[in-house]
Amino acid sequence: MEGAEKQALIAPNGKAVGGSSIEVRNPATGAYVASVACVDDAGLELLAQRGRAAQPAWSELGVGGRAVILGALRRWLSENSERVIETVISETGKPYEDAQLYDLGYGLAALSFWTRNAPRYLQEQRFFAHTPLLAGRRLVTRYVPRGLVGVIGPWNYPLVNSFGDCIPALMAGNSVILKPSELTPLTSLLMAEAGAECGIPDAVFQVAPGGGETGAALVDLVDFVMFTGSIATGRAVALRAAQTLTPVSLELGGKDALIVLDGADLERAANVAVFYAMMNSGAACVSLERVYAESTIYSEFTAKLAEKVAALRYGAPHGPGSVDVGAITDERQLDTIEAHVADALAKGARLLAGDRRGERSGRFFEPTLLVDTDHTMACMNEETFGPTLAVMRVADEDAAVALLNDSRYGLGAAVFARDAAEGERVARRLAVGAVCVNDAAINYFALEAPMGGVKQSGLGVRHGPDGIRKFASQQTILITPRWMPRREPQMYAYSAWMTKLIGRWLKLLYGRRASTTPEHPEPAAKRLLRAARRRASGD
Ligand code: NAD
Repeated sequence: MEGAEKQALIAPNGKAVGGSSIEVRNPATGAYVASVACVDDAGLELLAQRGRAAQPAWSELGVGGRAVILGALRRWLSENSERVIETVISETGKPYEDAQLYDLGYGLAALSFWTRNAPRYLQEQRFFAHTPLLAGRRLVTRYVPRGLVGVIGPWNYPLVNSFGDCIPALMAGNSVILKPSELTPLTSLLMAEAGAECGIPDAVFQVAPGGGETGAALVDLVDFVMFTGSIATGRAVALRAAQTLTPVSLELGGKDALIVLDGADLERAANVAVFYAMMNSGAACVSLERVYAESTIYSEFTAKLAEKVAALRYGAPHGPGSVDVGAITDERQLDTIEAHVADALAKGARLLAGDRRGERSGRFFEPTLLVDTDHTMACMNEETFGPTLAVMRVADEDAAVALLNDSRYGLGAAVFARDAAEGERVARRLAVGAVCVNDAAINYFALEAPMGGVKQSGLGVRHGPDGIRKFASQQTILITPRWMPRREPQMYAYSAWMTKLIGRWLKLLYGRRASTTPEHPEPAAKRLLRAARRRASGD
């Protein structure tokens, strides 16, 4: 798309009324890529109306019918992989490999996973209640689509955290409006085009390009908000959604840490640390940003890191294998990265590799390694979201665990220990949503397992059963058979006799001498209940 003539792209399925537009430039080269027409408030309301009107038929298609259409989209993604990778690279400036495995790879895996597993996760359940008070009744719980879901995404993985979250929302029977980051709208627009080609009905999946104000306006118009982005914006979204009590799921920032203990495989630990710190230019919510290394292995480990970071090639990607670390997509992020490095150096950290903005035409930051850091430094406390890694020396496991947990973030963490058992034991001490032992971040691809942050890193999870059930409300249906007595013991008129009987019955069931569980009431309690029912119905 690079070098394309300047032209306005109209938001698919929608009407660009406001006249404002987004100019997308490749962050690695500065080259113009495309202009995208924004959706203003009136346009957004129109999209919401159309989305709501289209949703019932999409829901009635059933989960199997929806799986057929999204299965076709998976095949489209596979057949058009080069076009998708090229689009991701053009608006993010990331290397081919980062776009291939993490954007395209996740999109394919997610379409495959949700189309296979949604039927099981959304299956209704039939059961009997545990209390004898409901004896004879049948219960059904089912998942009802919320209606219109708003997905608001960041710029770092345009396919993963924007379109990726639309997949379970659509599979659950909702219409979706996706508001992609204003920096990276092209991949989302491409997915809308592909969705229409593969049979997603008109207005079931719509993309609303625009800035933060478009995201804020979207919160007012939908039945559920799936937000991925910074803590500050997540808080603004939650506050706005509180006005209408609209439920939200928030996937927010991280400050993932790695603990390296004596006895660990230092070579693998160093490879994992450097890869998951620098991958995607360090702009992954689950990037490793800080390391706590036990003092006995500190020098050896930091020497390995220094060698590996210094060997990384960074710059504008030009095809597979051309660079290891690409551009910084968001210009504002460069200032944060630079400030964190300067702050650490001013407070006594040592620089073992990198340190400055790349002196090239695009936006880059040299892969950077800081050692001898401590918790007075921003690089250990605040999300840097860049190609940097900060290492701190710690006395032992307890110190490492305490420092890792001393954070407002709680997304992910990694532990390298003597063996898997020790690693798992340490993992259980960490206050984060996910821990990898002898590994890092790769749990993101385990779509069966919940992924989400604790503390200020988020509310709710993506992936696993709850990753799709959140896009539905739960309805319970209780069915009382026709043969039930016309009047039951607990119904009016109250009488002292019946009240006493119910009191005795509750004691028999739940009191100190209850010999059985309420699911299996003892014969005496059953007899009492039958007597009470006979008396109430006048038999
Ligand atoms: P951001 O918060 O600046 O923006 C995210 C989205 O919110 C954008 O589409 C933006 O236009 C929109 N927005 C801005 N103001 C809004 C408002 N008031 N109401 C509604 N929407 C609004 O984040 P970013 O810079 O695009 O992304 C980087 C952040 O995302 C990092 O903090 C990163 O850790 C986080 N992230 C988290 C995860 C996760 O799964 N936890 C994944 C990827 C990125």
